[in-house]
Amino acid sequence: MAPSVGIAITLDDSRPYMGGLLDWYDQNARPLPWRIQKVTPWESLLAEIILQQTRMETGLPYWERIRAAYPTPATLAADTEENLLRLWQGCGYYARARNLYKLAKTLDGEDLPESYDSLLKMPGIGPYTAAAIASISFGQPVACVDGNVRRVISRLRAEHLSDPDLQSEANDLLDHNRPGDWNQAMMEIGSLVCTPRNPSCDTCPLESNCLASKSSNPEEWPLRRSTKQAQIDAVVIVVSDSNGILLEARKGRTLGGLWGLPYAEGEVESSELLASRKVKLIGKVRHDFTHKRLDIAVYISEVTENDETRSPESVPMATLDRKVLRFFRAHENKQS
Ligand code: SF4
Repeated sequence: MAPSVGIAITLDDSRPYMGGLLDWYDQNARPLPWRIQKVTPWESLLAEIILQQTRMETGLPYWERIRAAYPTPATLAADTEENLLRLWQGCGYYARARNLYKLAKTLDGEDLPESYDSLLKMPGIGPYTAAAIASISFGQPVACVDGNVRRVISRLRAEHLSDPDLQSEANDLLDHNRPGDWNQAMMEIGSLVCTPRNPSCDTCPLESNCLASKSSNPEEWPLRRSTKQAQIDAVVIVVSDSNGILLEARKGRTLGGLWGLPYAEGEVESSELLASRKVKLIGKVRHDFTHKRLDIAVYISEVTENDETRSPESVPMATLDRKVLRFFRAHENKQS
């Protein structure tokens, strides 16, 4: 697809921003572990999956821990999903871990496939991840479009582009000699230079070919996607004795596979849960997900003869439950 704006961009290898971008990347790329040592496609995949929805400084220790525990898909497939979730706890978005486990099982001892189309058929691998692995690990000429690339291309063109148009532009810009480095360079520029609120156009290697930089407010592009948080009231009950805490196996897309305290959201389910035993309110805890904010009323209750308590350290638990338990323990300490 030809550039859609009137700017002197030519589509041969002498494009100033093309060489400029890779030169900039060669000199300025952050020394991330997978850039300074040889990693396998599987280890690259682990990094891509962890870092898509987790900040770099938080995600790096998880990457180190999970690749050490599961150096190949076969080693993961030979273990339990619960053990993977235990390593993943605190990293959030647990569907990623469950999909990773499904992927390892699907591979059934084989290595990751090399082509974009075959990768895309694997559980938990979407267009971005398939393009990242195909280009970075296998050198295939496929362009990645993540939030950083979307921002950079929208500003280069000073247009609010649709997703298909962004992919098409990214494909046109891709350097076929170094597709993996090119993709990483585009993402790195978005992370370090062309940031959402304060793009550093003065130091950007793309500046001479960027339409947005000629305007007084380059941060106007792209249109922000709205992420309105729903406000939800929830209740949780802490039942404890000297053996530990009453925990239930969670179900559902968000926290399925983890263990948690008896919990309910919404008026009807919350009333039913609270009516199921004698409870006492000890306070409230707030917890934010990307799309919802939970105001959680924390109750305590006595152990009954049917309750089986266990150590919270013995099972994988979500951050939300661990936050409630910290609140509960602080409350208990105050009382004693
Ligand atoms: S010149 Fe400015 S707006 Fe354009 S890509 Fe670089 S940092 Fe972003």
